Amino acid sequence: MGGWWLVVLVVAVVALGYAVLPNVWTRVLKRTALRRVPAAGRRVALTFDDGPDPKYTPRLLDALAQCGVRATFFVIAEKALRHPDIVERMIREGHEVQVHGMRHVLVPVLPPGSAWDQAFTAAEKLQERFGLSIRWYRPTWGLCNLPSLWWTWGGRRGLRMVTWSIMVGDWRRTDSGVLRDRILRRLHPGAILVLHDSDETWGSEAGAPERVIELMPELAAALAARGYRLGPLRDLLAAGGLPQPGTVDWSGAAPGPPRAQR
Ligand SMILES: [Zn+2]
Repeated sequence: MGGWWLVVLVVAVVALGYAVLPNVWTRVLKRTALRRVPAAGRRVALTFDDGPDPKYTPRLLDALAQCGVRATFFVIAEKALRHPDIVERMIREGHEVQVHGMRHVLVPVLPPGSAWDQAFTAAEKLQERFGLSIRWYRPTWGLCNLPSLWWTWGGRRGLRMVTWSIMVGDWRRTDSGVLRDRILRRLHPGAILVLHDSDETWGSEAGAPERVIELMPELAAALAARGYRLGPLRDLLAAGGLPQPGTVDWSGAAPGPPRAQR
């Protein structure tokens, strides 16, 4: 047996532990990352990933205002800094803003420094620019690696990981009635629903968010008819008696004064 076998074995074990097992832990075994809050009762957290997008997000905000519904936006920090007016509008209209990443990249293959940037540097930029207090990190495609799992474990650095419990394939252009029915089939107390307000992400179909915008009034009505309330993640946590994670430890960076989100 040549020595190279040992090298291959060591590399495979390290890759498995670094990039694969953390996702088996969070996604298959459903540990550590928050994905539902059953104690919240008949409530659903409405969350949007991948924005802000100048083509769709303002019209989505119009639709949410018309339904009287507030949501949580997991934003890409670089896009948020490119379109600050949209983020300011989210905050002004009472929505919650949390972090999805600096860019939409595959976190499992990133070295530790880049994985840190995806969560913590991105959160820091959002805090600096918008005076937000960012507490929740939803990694892009919901996939983490070992360092990002370690840093968000129990909110030890001020950020906690969150994924979702209802996902309905809205990144493909799908009739809003079909999306609504898929959501209703999977509905459960304390659900975290993820939808998307951008079609720029790899794998998403051009124009898909149009259907998500159309879905809003139908979804609000269908959930109300079942006695469910739609709202931001913070409402789900409050109703379920879960505290928000603490203030972010910027690890050397001078912390700005965090402003509590409404
Ligand atoms: Zn995403």
